[in-house]
Amino acid sequence: MTHADVNKVNLLGLSKAGLTEYFTALGEKSWRAAQVLQWIHHQGVKDPALMTNLSKPLREKLQQHTEICAPEVMFEGESPDGTRKWVLRLADGNAIETVFIPEKTRGTLCVSSQAGCTLNCDFCSTGKQGFNRNLTAAEIIGQVWIAARSLSKENGLHDHAITNVVMMGMGEPLLNFDNVVAAMDIMLDDHAYGLSKRRVTLSTAGVVPALYALRKVSDVALAVSLHAPNDTLRNELVPLNRKYPLKELMQACRDHFKDEPRRYVTMEYVMLAGVNDTATHARELIRLLTEGEGVRAKVNLIPFNPFPGTTYTRSTPEAIAAFQQILMNAGINTIVRKTRGEKIDAACGQLVGQVKDKTRRSAKHQQKLAAIKVIESK
Ligand code: SAH
Repeated sequence: MTHADVNKVNLLGLSKAGLTEYFTALGEKSWRAAQVLQWIHHQGVKDPALMTNLSKPLREKLQQHTEICAPEVMFEGESPDGTRKWVLRLADGNAIETVFIPEKTRGTLCVSSQAGCTLNCDFCSTGKQGFNRNLTAAEIIGQVWIAARSLSKENGLHDHAITNVVMMGMGEPLLNFDNVVAAMDIMLDDHAYGLSKRRVTLSTAGVVPALYALRKVSDVALAVSLHAPNDTLRNELVPLNRKYPLKELMQACRDHFKDEPRRYVTMEYVMLAGVNDTATHARELIRLLTEGEGVRAKVNLIPFNPFPGTTYTRSTPEAIAAFQQILMNAGINTIVRKTRGEKIDAACGQLVGQVKDKTRRSAKHQQKLAAIKVIESK
């Protein structure tokens, strides 16, 4: 079954806490939660009839009142570099994207948290397509479940290639707080995917109050989409900055791992030619990260990935290398993210799916694209 039945509880989206509550309400022992998590996320089982360590009456009850329902795979494709992309259709017709990036020593799954995005960052194609809604916890963890099934060998879902998850797909995870936290709990749970907290990364454009809430309930790794070293430029690139300016964001980053002195925040910085990539910007970035108490951070430079209608272009390799060197000379650990999956439009900022836009942004973007086509055809 791929379409959720509104009368049934979708067990796929319940973390151990959620399942425990569910089984306790049924008058069952709380350890049923761990057993069912294992069936769903280790074995990939969808039918409660197959959960042989549960009593027969319980299995029947589950069949009647619950379902294990993931989004439907509309497309699965592989880029020549091994990057895989899934386009998943949700029950209401929206479509989202999930990407797997294999490397020598790890395999990273990039997961979406919303159908579209409200933030409208100028250099991101997801932003241009508008926003429909938050994903449910089942739709978020369903992406991991589908990818793990597809990537596993014969021995069930625990035998998969996913070692890391990054919440860097479509959407702003901190604006879908509860569902993202529930899904990340399942990623970390030993009875489910058992990923280490250092290998699950939440990436945010900087929703400051939600960052403070996050540190109370989850200790996953944190990446912040910085992209600019001052408020004037950041207001333009990441409009959310007008609400939560750099001073507040840097304080939240400083506070985030205050009690864990060995952990640092990853600052993502998209490299846009002539916009944010000069030596002056690099020096300003050093000041931002080191002045006062400083922020324990490393920097991840992301070469811009173009998409139709954008006016930005990617910084040259020389500009990126020079920028990196300036930061490194100041003692800031800086790496350049390799661009992967371009052939299947699976690179950072290229994930679009099909979103039934509730804002008017995608219409405006389409008009702009049509105008560009007219000019090009002349
Ligand atoms: N909303 C979250 C999650 C998206 S993560 C956030 O902003 O962090 C995706 C990462 O890719 C972010 O750092 C985003 O800013 C970056 N990105 C977006 N568009 C891009 C593009 N066209 N090229 C390169 N990186 C891009």
